[in-house]
This record gives sequence, structure tokens and C-alpha cells, in this order.
Amino acid sequence: MFGADKKKAEAGVESIKRGLILGQMQGWQLTVDKILDHAHQNHGHQEIVTRTVEGPIVRSTYSDLYWRARQFSNALLADGVQPGDRIATLAWNTTRHMECWYGTMGIGAVLHTLNPRLFPEQIAWIINHAEDTHICYDITFQPIIEAIKDKVPTVKRWIVLTDKAHRPPSPIADLRNYEDYIGEQSKDVVWGNFPEDTACGLCYTSGTTGDPKGVLYSHRSNVLHTLITMQVDALGCSARDGIMPVVPMFHANAWGISLSAPAVGGKLVLPGAKMDGESIYEMLDGEKVSFTAAVPTVWLMLLHYLESTGKKLPYLKKVVIGGSAVPERILRAFEENYDVEVIHAWGMTEMSPLGSLGAMTTPVLAQDHESIVKYKLKQGRAPFGVEMKITDDDGKELPRDGRSAGHLLVRGPAVAKAYFKGAGGEILDKDGFFDTGDVANLDELGYMQITDRAKDVIKSGGEWISSIDIENFAVGHPAVACAAAIGLPHPKWDERPLLIIELKPGQTATREDVLGYLNGKIAKWWMPDDVVFTDKIPLGATGKINKLVLRATFKDHKLPTIQAAG
Ligand code: AMP
Repeated sequence: MFGADKKKAEAGVESIKRGLILGQMQGWQLTVDKILDHAHQNHGHQEIVTRTVEGPIVRSTYSDLYWRARQFSNALLADGVQPGDRIATLAWNTTRHMECWYGTMGIGAVLHTLNPRLFPEQIAWIINHAEDTHICYDITFQPIIEAIKDKVPTVKRWIVLTDKAHRPPSPIADLRNYEDYIGEQSKDVVWGNFPEDTACGLCYTSGTTGDPKGVLYSHRSNVLHTLITMQVDALGCSARDGIMPVVPMFHANAWGISLSAPAVGGKLVLPGAKMDGESIYEMLDGEKVSFTAAVPTVWLMLLHYLESTGKKLPYLKKVVIGGSAVPERILRAFEENYDVEVIHAWGMTEMSPLGSLGAMTTPVLAQDHESIVKYKLKQGRAPFGVEMKITDDDGKELPRDGRSAGHLLVRGPAVAKAYFKGAGGEILDKDGFFDTGDVANLDELGYMQITDRAKDVIKSGGEWISSIDIENFAVGHPAVACAAAIGLPHPKWDERPLLIIELKPGQTATREDVLGYLNGKIAKWWMPDDVVFTDKIPLGATGKINKLVLRATFKDHKLPTIQAAG
């Protein structure tokens, strides 16, 4: 008997002693291989379309994915891979990447997604921490591989995700190309057959404070997260949808879509390496995509493309936007100009990642359009499977009144209880809640609104100023491409906001223009003490503003109000 089964049996005996009786239903273990079994059996002919990194758009089916993933499993087994071994990918959203996922997880090994947007030294650090044995990478990442190959001693096998013809020249002597690696293998393999608590996926947080930390998903947590995402008011996809995850599989499991698309059996469209407006439009239109998801920056590029070409989005019905707050102009452009429903979502790597989604409820829909827009800009409601609460600094729960902002804590079957190898120590409070590091409020209807990251909040005169709110208003200015607010030390108020602006190409604006634009939109005491302009606001590895860099760059900036206060 496996350890976990033994524990359950003992718990059963214990329950009976306490007078409880156990249900008599099947112990069907929640393992992710069952998702692809299901897709193969029930949606085997459903199409998967990939823009390959080599260039052409290729077509396959869920059954092809199923069989080829089994060949990948056998290739790993032939290499001596054991349950629990970490198999890393450095790859875009493609069908080969999906095969690596299911082929690895099916045999009880752990699929570790690496984020190619990190620096090579960070990637090497993460590989060493995870002790990955295999690295499967796209040809586009050959330069990263060359930079790290001598620094990662645990790696025994390098596999480039292409065929013989496209294998790049490489100093790695026994580099295998993926097609040959799996081509010689049988399709016959046993998947699953281990307890549902077995680890199946590993993803490191971006590490903007301290070293990156690994989140180790289990089969059970991933299957339950998949069921959570399948709720109509969550992602709510169906077998009739064309589903395109633009959000990368290395960004918190493509928000679960690499598991929920096969679970519902929708047509899967994988955009590969190209995320510019034209390429994304080509996939949305050519493949009749009805559902898609990505961070705001991707949608800004698409909207620019649509506006400059006059093209429309006749097939797209729903776009999920998250990872950072949805700017109002993106929401309005999709809904008012293109008739596409926007669902604002919030989540994090530690939550597998979905935490809340902005589906509308009857009392909200009864309100006027402008009020509905305000609700849509909030981060949304918890789906079944996520519990949320807001607390003050002493851990006391705050009222759900839409005003009281505090620490956002979460609990659920797809929320981490610890980091890989115990990094960071104990991460849950006494009731089992995880502190997300976000500051938020919850309203009477259950809508949550993030007001800041705890570390980005600007503390002025004992009160908190939301940097996100200032930024959201600032990007509404027609000349502003991107805005970031940070707190600078102030002798009287503790901290005061500095607003950093990146202008759109060819546009001009002055400090006074921006302040004049904000005037009346935000509380007087939230008004930035100064506005500065920069060529490029730095973004981190998951496309979010890198405030750490901004704080370092502007640490010596003198706020004009300091003189006045003194
Ligand atoms: P990551 O684990 O890299 O996905 O980062 C998670 C963090 O991104 C969250 O804790 C939030 O701070 C931020 N985030 C994600 N979605 C949103 C959103 N819709 N609005 C504001 N912040 C968000």
C-alpha cells in the first residue's frame, strides 16, 4: 500500500472509532493523465492548431497529442527517469510542449516550466535548485542554453523541441532532437496508478523579493483547479469553443488552460512564439477563436493592430485578462468597440493560479453601464474552491464593505501550503490561510479589488495610497503608454508618490498636463508630488512593471514638496 493510502486507511479506522461512517464511493484518484485519457476518448478528433517556432502553422488532434505524449513517457523511461524526477521545459505554447507535460506527469515525474524571460543566471539558479535532470527547449532559446549548459550539473539530457532538419548547431554533443527522441518509442505505457497527492508540476515565483521559490503542484490540486476553472463563471469554456491561451504555459500553467482545454474538449489554438498584434489576430481570426486569455500588454498590442487596420473580431466572444490590473481603456475597447466580453481575473503562481474572476451577477447587471464598468474593473469574485478574507496588520478580519483595505488571504485545495524544499519556512496562518502579499478590499457582493502589492503600497501620513489606482488613471491620458507610481521617502508624510511616465511614440506631455489630467479623478492627498518621464518603464519576466528597478533608478530623485514641507 502507498504511504498516502495507508494514512487514509488509518484515518478511516480512526473515523469509525469516532462513530463516523465512510462513504462507499470509488477512490478514483484525481490524476492529470485522466484529463488526456478523457480528451482522447471523447474528443479524439478535436483539432489542435499550433504556430510552430519553426514557422508554419500545423494541425493535429487530441488523440495525436495523447499518443505522442505516451511516446515521450517511454523515451523518459528509457533514459532512466524515475517518479519524482524533475523534467524542465523552456518552451512556448505548442503541441510539443503539451506532449512534454502529459508525458512527464503521466509517469509520476514532475514537469518544471522555466521562464525564458529571466536572465540566464536566474534560470541556471532555478534549474540547480530544482535539480532538473532533463531540459526540453525550443530552438529560439538556443542562446540561453549555451549560456547555462556548463552551470547546471544535474542535467543529464538536453532535448531540442524540433526535428532533425531544424536542429540547431550546438556544442552539446549528445543533444537529441525531439522527433527522433520520441520517434523510436512505443505508444504503450501505464499512466497514473499512483496516489493523487503525487507531485506533478513545478513553477518558480518570479522572485522580485529574494530568491525565486518553487510551487509544487500535485495531481489532485491540478485536477481540482481544472474543475474550478471549468465553472461557467470562471473560465467557462466548452467543447464548442476555440480556445487560445496566449498566456504562456510557463506563466502559472497558462492559467490552467493546458489542462482545462482538453478536459472540456474545445479546439485548442497554440500561438507559439509570436505575440505581436498581427500574429495574434491571424490566429484569432483564421482559427475562429472564441475564448482567449493573456496579460494586458498582449491586448494593447492587438488593439493597436486592430485600430490601425480597421479589422474586427467576429468570432471572439470572451477574453480573460489578468496578471496585472486591466486598464479601463482595454476593457472599454474590447466591450464597446468589438463586442467582446472581458473577464478580469486575478491569481498567482501559488494558487495554480486562478483566485478570482469578474463574472457579473444579477444585482450588478441591474445597474447602469458606467456602474457595471466599475465592477468589471475590480478583480472579481472567488469561484467555488477558493476562500478569501481581508485582514488588518494584526490578522483581524476586516468587513466586506468595499472600502476597508487589508491583507488578502486565501485558502483552498489548489493553494500552496509550502514552497519546494521548505524555502521561506511556514507560509500559512493558524487557520491555514496563505497571505497573497496583495492589499485588497471585498465588497458586499463578493467582488474583490486589489489596491496594491503590500510592498508597493505608498504609506503617506499613516494612510495607504494605492499605486495601482494612480497608474490606472494616468494611463487614461491619451499620450501615456505606461505609468508607474512609487513611494519616495518624505520627512513629513513618511512617503509620497512619484509618478513615472512612458509616453506613446511621437506623443508629448508635460508634468503639468499629467497632473491636470489626474486632478479631480483621485483624492487630493493621492496626487503625485512629482511626475517624471522615461523612455521605457522596465518590465519583469511575466510582463509586470519592475518596481524594484524603478525604486533603485529614482531613489535619489528630489521631490519638489520636500523643500516646501521643510
Ligand atoms: P504571478 O505569481 O507572477 O502570477 O504574480 C501574482 C501577482 O500578480 C498577484 O499576487 C498580484 O499582485 C498580481 N496580479 C495578478 N493578477 C492581477 C490583477 N488582475 N490585478 C492586479 N494585480 C494582479
